[in-house]
Amino acid sequence: MAHSTWLYQMRDIKFQIKEWLPLEEKLLSLDAYKDYYGIDDIDNFLDVNFKVCRDVMCPANKDADEPGATFVGGNEHAVVTPDSFKNVYKTIQDAELGQQFGFRGEGKIPLVWYAPILEMQSGASPSIVMFWCLTQGATTVLQDYGTQKQKDVFLEKMLAGQWCGTMGLTEPGAGSEVGALASKAFPTDKPHIYKMKGTKCFITSGDHDLAENIIHLMLAKTPGAAEGTAGISLFIVPKFWVDPDTGEMGAWNDVTSVGIEHKMGIHGSSTLTLAMGENDNCYG
Ligand SMILES: Cc1cc2nc3c(=O)[nH]c(=O)nc-3n(C[C@H](O)[C@H](O)[C@H](O)COP(=O)(O)OP(=O)(O)OC[C@H]3O[C@@H](n4cnc5c(N)ncnc54)[C@H](O)[C@@H]3O)c2cc1C
Repeated sequence: MAHSTWLYQMRDIKFQIKEWLPLEEKLLSLDAYKDYYGIDDIDNFLDVNFKVCRDVMCPANKDADEPGATFVGGNEHAVVTPDSFKNVYKTIQDAELGQQFGFRGEGKIPLVWYAPILEMQSGASPSIVMFWCLTQGATTVLQDYGTQKQKDVFLEKMLAGQWCGTMGLTEPGAGSEVGALASKAFPTDKPHIYKMKGTKCFITSGDHDLAENIIHLMLAKTPGAAEGTAGISLFIVPKFWVDPDTGEMGAWNDVTSVGIEHKMGIHGSSTLTLAMGENDNCYG
C-alpha cells in the first residue's frame, strides 16, 4: 500500500471516544485508570499511532507482498522478515503501541482506546500487525489462567515484545473440530513438565526473526484424556527452552518449522506448520 493511499479519519474516531462515549464519567473513573489517564490522553496515543502507521508501517507494507515472509528453514529463525518489518516492530515496541505492550497491570490503557489503534495498524499493514496480535492473545491467556510462576517467568518479556507468542490449536485433522486433535503430552518424572509430540498447522507467527524467543501455547491431550474437547489441555511450549525456575533461555526445544503457507493478501504474515518432538526432545 502506497504511503499516500492510507487515509484515516481521526476526527471521527476522536468524536466517538471523547465526545460520544461517557468515558470520563464511567471508564476513566475506575481504579485501574483514574490515577493514570484523563480523557485528553487519548489524543496522544492516537496521534502517535497515526504517525507510526503513516510513516513507518504503510511504507513497509509493500515488502509484505514482495518479498513477504521468507521460509529458509532451520532451528534458529526458519522465517526471515524484511528489514522494514524489523524497523516497524521496534518502533511499535518502543512506542508501546502493541496491545500487550500497554497491558502491564497498573497503568494499562483501556481496551476501548486500543480498538482504533489496532484498526489503524491493521489498515496500514494487515500482515505486519499479526506479529504482535498473536502475542497479545497468548499474554492474555497467561494473565488470566497462568500460575504465578508461569506469569513470573514468561509475562514480562512477552509484554515487552522481547519474546513473542502464538496460539497452537489447529492440526491437519482438527480444524473446526478441535476436539479431534492428535497432539500428545506425556508426563515426565519432573513435576509439571511434559514431553510433547504432534503437528500443528496454520500457526500465525509460528516462527520469525523479530523476537529472540517464541512462546507457543499448544493444545494437546495427555494419555487417557477424555474424547473430544473435554480432554484438551493447554501447554506452554517455548521455541527455545525456558528454565521454569530461573526464566533463563536455553537450547532449541525441538519445535520444527516444517513449512509456510502462502496466502493472498497477507503474504508477509508467517503462517506455519510446526512439528513438536521430531527428535523426541520437545517439552512443555
Ligand atoms: C491465515 C490463517 C491463520 C491462522 N492462524 C491460526 C493460528 O494462529 N492458530 C491456529 O491454531 N489456527 C490458525 N488458523 C487455522 C484456523 O483456525 C482453521 O483454519 C479453522 O479452525 C478451520 O479449520 P480448517 O481450515 O481445518 O477447516 P475445516 O474445519 O476443515 O472446515 C472447512 C469448511 O467446512 C465447514 N465446516 C466444518 N465443520 C462443519 C460442521 N460441523 N458443520 C458445517 N460446516 C462445517 C467450515 O465452516 C469450513 O467452511 C489459521 C488459518 C488461517 C487461514
